Amino acid sequence: MHITSKLPAVGTTIFTVMSTLSNKHGAINLSQGFPNFPTSQRLNDLVYHYMQQGFNQYAPMPGVPVLRERIANKANQLYGTKLNSDEEVTITAGATQAIFTAITTFVKHGDEVIILEPAYDSYQPVVELNGGTVVPYRLKAPDYEVDWGLMKKLITPSTRMIIINTPHNPTGSTLKAKDLQALQDLTDDTDILILSDEVYEHLIYDGNQHQSILRFPKLWQRSLATYSFGKTFHNTGWKMGYCLAPKHLMKEFRKVHQFNVFSINTPIQYALADYIEDASTYLSLPAFFQQKRDFFLQALDGSRLRPLSCEGTYFCNFDYSDISSEDDMAFAKRMTIEYGVAAIPVSAFYSNPTNDKVIRLCFAKTEETLEKAGALLRKI
Ligand code: PMP
Ligand code: GLN
Repeated sequence: MHITSKLPAVGTTIFTVMSTLSNKHGAINLSQGFPNFPTSQRLNDLVYHYMQQGFNQYAPMPGVPVLRERIANKANQLYGTKLNSDEEVTITAGATQAIFTAITTFVKHGDEVIILEPAYDSYQPVVELNGGTVVPYRLKAPDYEVDWGLMKKLITPSTRMIIINTPHNPTGSTLKAKDLQALQDLTDDTDILILSDEVYEHLIYDGNQHQSILRFPKLWQRSLATYSFGKTFHNTGWKMGYCLAPKHLMKEFRKVHQFNVFSINTPIQYALADYIEDASTYLSLPAFFQQKRDFFLQALDGSRLRPLSCEGTYFCNFDYSDISSEDDMAFAKRMTIEYGVAAIPVSAFYSNPTNDKVIRLCFAKTEETLEKAGALLRKI
């Protein structure tokens, strides 16, 4: 039998590679992005409650109405929109499925999709599965700012979508209001769609405001935005998320969603609806994670790893050029095996190799873990 791969260039994701290596060598795993502290007991109890109450059959295809209503209220309050929960909110199996479905719904053979690299690793394969071509815009260390004049040069009549991500994984940078304004001007009077990956909307620091695409009414009309409860509520293994989009785009999104997954875990949807009624569950997160970021940086004080700025997400990037001239994959592997701390080499997020000498470390960990990791990293 002869099988032709639809994704010949794709191997195992860097998250699996580094977590496996970390486990094999008993290292502290600061590579793959997930917390090592528990999700809320109240949220667990709510899930159990709804299971016991018999909420265990298929949910409605777009998600249970009460959760969609509360998500719409939350977004309307935070970003000044007037979302209609019946037509503009769909619950998904994590942001990953929202991203997969959004791209699959709109990207056709021959379309171009602009991606800002370094980019989260799921965007490119999904574009390619749909016959599209990725056009990379390269963000440069150390500040990773977008030059919208250069971005404009990448736009052609085939440009179907631009994918943005703020706060940004892996760099921890954020888009500012002026960036979203520039994107609005750039796409005005075009048929370009925006996919705005906002899974770290609540992980933004130093008093800054998340610049959601929802804040820009004209831009919003051509956008789909994706979110992750797993990232927000420390339960990445539940794979719960959602997509927001204006009615005319959501109508198409749901056509694909219903055959992609149909519906999502019922008891967890009811539990999340109750849980997010209390806004402090998410409004407390910037302070919570900022404290972790600062604790981690303090624990690394005196290390030869040089921190790059971290405005958001639970990742901080480090320049290791004072330590080694190895490429980042070799350095990350050696760090894991010889020094006992696993990291992600940032070149894994580019379509063409880079030699920036930057690694990403996840600080969504207990203080005990961060302290131990800091002590090991200071020895390098
Ligand atoms: N986008 C980005 C930028 C991410 O870092 C992640 C990882 N959580 C996802 C999407 C996927 O989110 P989820 O785990 O909810 O599928
Ligand atoms: N989003 C997480 C990260 O960037 C991991 C997601 C995954 O393992 N696919 O590390």
